[in-house]
Amino acid sequence: MSQGAEPRGVTVRVPGKINLELVVGPLREDGYHELATVFHTVGIYDYVTAIESDRWSVQVSGATAEGVPGNSTNLAIRAAKALARRYGVEGAVALGIEKNIPVAGGMAGGSADAAAALVACDALWDLQLTRDELEPIAAGLGSDVPFLLHGGTAIGSGRGERLAPVLARGELHWVLWVSNKPGLSTPQVYAECDRLRAAAGVQVADPVPSGDLVAALRTMDTDAVGAALHNDLQEAACSLYPVLDDVLEAGLELGAQGAIVSGSGPTVAFLVGTQAAAIDLSVGLAARGPDGDIRRATGPVAGAQVVQSIVPPGPGFTG
Ligand code: ATP
Repeated sequence: MSQGAEPRGVTVRVPGKINLELVVGPLREDGYHELATVFHTVGIYDYVTAIESDRWSVQVSGATAEGVPGNSTNLAIRAAKALARRYGVEGAVALGIEKNIPVAGGMAGGSADAAAALVACDALWDLQLTRDELEPIAAGLGSDVPFLLHGGTAIGSGRGERLAPVLARGELHWVLWVSNKPGLSTPQVYAECDRLRAAAGVQVADPVPSGDLVAALRTMDTDAVGAALHNDLQEAACSLYPVLDDVLEAGLELGAQGAIVSGSGPTVAFLVGTQAAAIDLSVGLAARGPDGDIRRATGPVAGAQVVQSIVPPGPGFTG
């Protein structure tokens, strides 16, 4: 940062994701599972601000800040450092993260913040990289990070980092049940899935996304999308977090057209047809329990986007 100059800053808004489908294939030699998944962003947002600074730092605030590291293990600061290393940027950033995405909730909040940090630092350092150019760095940080650079609805394969967009017209209305107890660790849920499969003698096939879901998304037929929601990790998440069975049952009895544990859980997503139905279901769930936070959101929404940029104009600027 130059002496005396006002620090420059960029703020990026980034949503959380749910998985409309998650098919878990065999365990690979690198310790990851081969996946076929349909990612879908929903309008619950974190805000990541990158400010030019002489040293690296991260500060976390917001409704879901508890449990998020305010040190160099934070995925957002790791993302900013990886970008600086790759493009030879000298200097550092002070990151501010305002968290609203549930933590350890299966909504990829940490990955979202990493994607947002890449986009914020790209703008701050005027690297002018495309999302496709940011993708390899994103994939090195985590399997869900590339998707959150793009947002929308997309099929993810490999460990989730290889993306193909899905044509989805219009929007879907979601009611989310968010646990107010500590979340689930993703590796633990995969391990439980492997354990349950081994105990049942299941032969694990290569994962393939279902044609039904992709066809239903093309028309946004809520009943058809609801019927096609599927998560291979759901049984494992419910086994580790038994209250999820009650949550799923409660939402369906209250009229949801579909219900699914998001990713590795424990967030549960309920699909309804209209905003009015979303309000009715959220009121019903809050009254009936099980205890948790109830949020409403629509999807799909865009991935990480710059919403504010305070970068003083260059020397050619005449006002
Ligand atoms: P996924 O769906 O990708 O498995 P998740 O939504 O279940 O992820 P996250 O909210 O991404 O889980 O957080 C997982 C852990 O990562 C947290 O417990 C936290 O310790 C760590 N973490 C590091 N950086 C962040 C961040 N910026 N935001 C949230 N968690 C972070």
